[in-house]
Amino acid sequence: MELVMGLFRFFYIILLIRMVLNIFLNIKRRAMLRDHIEAAQRTLAEGEEAEEPKQRVITMVEDKICGNRIQKEKAYIINKNDEDHYFCSWDCREKFINENRD
Ligand SMILES: [Zn+2]
Repeated sequence: MELVMGLFRFFYIILLIRMVLNIFLNIKRRAMLRDHIEAAQRTLAEGEEAEEPKQRVITMVEDKICGNRIQKEKAYIINKNDEDHYFCSWDCREKFINENRD
C-alpha cells in the first residue's frame, strides 16, 4: 500500500512540475511572439519612413537669358564669381557666356 501511495505522490509531483513548466513556457513563448510582432511593426514603420524621400521637393530656377523657369536638377549650370547661373538649354548657356565674356 505504501508503494502505491509513493508512486501516486511521485506522479503527482511530476504532473505539478509539468504544469508549472508549461505555464513558464507559455509566458516565454508569448513574450517571444510579442517581440517578433514588435520587430515586424518596427520594420514596417521603417519601410514607410524610407519611402518618404520619394516626395522630393522640386526646386525651380530662372533662366536669366530667356526668362524660362526650369527644374534645378535639369538645368545647365555655370558658376561665375561664386554664383550659380541656370539655363534651360545649351543655347542659353552659350548666349550667357558670350554676353558675359570678360
Ligand atoms: Zn533659356
